[in-house]
Amino acid sequence: MTTLESQLDYPFGDTLPAPGAPLQVAPGVYWLRMGLPFALNHINLWLLEDEIDTDGSSVKGWTIIDCGIADDATRASWEVVFANHLRGLPVLQVIATHCHPDHVGLADWLCRRWQAPLLMSAGEYAFARMMAAAMPGIDGASMFPHFRQHGLGDHGMEAQLEGRRSYYPALVPAVPHAFRRLQDGQALTIGGRTWRVITGFGHSPEHVALSCADDGLLISGDMVLPRISTNVSVFAIEPESNPVQLYVDSLGKYAHLAADTLVLPSHGKPFRGLHARIGQLCDHHAARLEEVLDACSEPRSAADIVPIMFRRPLDAHQLSFALGEALAHLHQLWLSRRVRRLQHADGVFRFQRTEAATDNL
Ligand SMILES: [Zn+2]
Repeated sequence: MTTLESQLDYPFGDTLPAPGAPLQVAPGVYWLRMGLPFALNHINLWLLEDEIDTDGSSVKGWTIIDCGIADDATRASWEVVFANHLRGLPVLQVIATHCHPDHVGLADWLCRRWQAPLLMSAGEYAFARMMAAAMPGIDGASMFPHFRQHGLGDHGMEAQLEGRRSYYPALVPAVPHAFRRLQDGQALTIGGRTWRVITGFGHSPEHVALSCADDGLLISGDMVLPRISTNVSVFAIEPESNPVQLYVDSLGKYAHLAADTLVLPSHGKPFRGLHARIGQLCDHHAARLEEVLDACSEPRSAADIVPIMFRRPLDAHQLSFALGEALAHLHQLWLSRRVRRLQHADGVFRFQRTEAATDNL
């Protein structure tokens, strides 16, 4: 266990839910783990006992939080859960924390199968629809000119990304054509508990985490993960965004939660130590920013920064995140005026430390 991890407490130790077998983590709250075909090989989903009032009569059932990707293995895993673990009760609603494929991939299948509504923030829902439809500007192809402007061609990385052209629609073939909107601060009653929506930014357009203060529970989605740092990337559709700043600012929205909150993350194991983890994540980004700033004593593109920030070999999936992440850190420095952005005759953006920043050494 690393020093950082030793600051966190894992109340379930090394116990993981077996495939298709929900593990109770709090009364009425069950942890499911489904596979992913990436280096990050799993996602956690949550199954909550629920009860809703429909036209004056109460119906018992389940709320699903996050869906898994649209592949046969994940569908089969869900079928095992449906057959063995729902006590004959229906799924009443499906909540997706955000638009990424591992979270929303099977939403359409789940909602159709159970005639259940999809609940998402408007920002996440809109992006899911746009990406599933491969709309111009947000399709796989728009990644290439964006990353070329940031030095992709200089490093021969382009061929590696070819397989990612249809990445999103392959994993999210459809998104329900209607949704119920979740908004920041909104209260949701699920299984007699009140959960409050906390929106977060920087990782995705309008990420929804759910906090139950009475029982000290936080379904953190991808905003707070115990082992890995949440990806923050600059994408073609919003080429001058500042996701590092948005992300770090969003972590401040968890400051009021109790120190012993049980965090239920989308990857890794449930843990306690929310505030320690947020401190680690802020330190991590501060250290990354200093490292990138140092590298920018010479003009550097985002592609130049990738091997400085990521010293291990990267597959295509990791490379696109790494490029986006390198650019995200450059943008934080650029928009806080610690580096300037230069566009060279080759059309590539490079970033160089400003005089003022050098003077501060
Ligand atoms: Zn995500």
